[in-house]
Amino acid sequence: VSRGVPGEPPLILDLGTGLRALGHDLLDEPAAAEAADDAAGGRNGSAPPPALQAVVTHLHFDHIQGLPFFQPALLDGAGLDIYGPPQAGDSLGDAFASVLRPPFFPIELDKLPAELRFHEVGDDRISLGAFDVLVRLIPHVGATCGYRVESDGISIAYVSDHQAPASLEGVADSVLELCSGADLVIHDAQYTEEEFRAKAHWGHSTIDYAVLVAREAGARRLALYHHDPTHSDEFLDDAGMEAAERAADAGLEVLMTAEGLTVDLS
Ligand SMILES: [Zn+2]
Ligand SMILES: [Zn+2]
Repeated sequence: VSRGVPGEPPLILDLGTGLRALGHDLLDEPAAAEAADDAAGGRNGSAPPPALQAVVTHLHFDHIQGLPFFQPALLDGAGLDIYGPPQAGDSLGDAFASVLRPPFFPIELDKLPAELRFHEVGDDRISLGAFDVLVRLIPHVGATCGYRVESDGISIAYVSDHQAPASLEGVADSVLELCSGADLVIHDAQYTEEEFRAKAHWGHSTIDYAVLVAREAGARRLALYHHDPTHSDEFLDDAGMEAAERAADAGLEVLMTAEGLTVDLS
């Protein structure tokens, strides 16, 4: 989530399980809490429900399953704009509706109290409030976007799921464009090299390949992201330290992401 611009709605990056906690945080903020009271109790308050916007890389479960547990989507009058890649033979909204329905979830997508508005993006440049967003289709499994978000001279590249080349050498132009000189690159770091060899076509990168991307792009900071579920916290701590050592000579700072991590880019 990019929340760095005061007075502007946050820009949510994907709709994974972190969305539930974010929804509660947003509703703890004064204007949103009033709106929630209004929605729940029918009071005639003037605070509008939070206006929310999300960019979605692709529709694999780990990137969408937080949506039905997102409290602001349960407020009457709330709106959520969702941007994501075009789907083969289906609109983006219909693709979401096809899984957000019984028996997968008790209610259907269009019965959620908030208005969800879907926008298809491919190789695009869009403006979302205070955020300028560059969108590029990137290598993964199925149509997948990467995003570069800029505001006030600060840039973040979000490349959550990225199929590294089998050789683990060379970087796609689309990915370099997203990450070029970025203040923060959030990048797929799912595998060790040994794991990648066994799953080279599963759509992901290695920790070292994430470092390579950030170095090639001349980024300032790299957040290693999209961990393999078999990797323990201890393993990740060690791997993060090793990657940081290897990246230091390029002036690249490396962070190992964990739930709740905040990075101040001001
Ligand atoms: Zn994926
Ligand atoms: Zn994923």
